Amino acid sequence: MEEPQKERLRGKKLFFRILGFVLLAAAVGCIIGGFVSFIGFMSDFMGDGETARPNLFWLFFIGFPLIPVSAIVLTMSRTRPSVSRTAQAAVRVRPPFARYETTCPGCSAPNPEDNAFCSHCGKDLHKDTAI
Ligand SMILES: [Zn+2]
Repeated sequence: MEEPQKERLRGKKLFFRILGFVLLAAAVGCIIGGFVSFIGFMSDFMGDGETARPNLFWLFFIGFPLIPVSAIVLTMSRTRPSVSRTAQAAVRVRPPFARYETTCPGCSAPNPEDNAFCSHCGKDLHKDTAI
């Protein structure tokens, strides 16, 4: 029952990683494109005076916000997804209950401490543990 969930988690992680890299690549592409356009504009501006408009300069405004976005997405792919965080929380909540459990000396099945007999194999739980 745990396996499909794990598989889905891995798929989610992979999706975020790919999405992060795609966004990062897009951001770098946009910045380079905008930068090249801007440098072209600047050199034209400094040079012969024949100014070409930096018509790709707007790419900067797409590229720069994309960097933190891709960083966030990549971080999401690296950290444990929220599903396993809730699972961890469940594990953290569990010990108080576990304290009231007795392991059967016969079959090692967990039983409530107030059980006189194992609910799994019927062995007397307090016979062996009381010694
Ligand atoms: Zn048992």
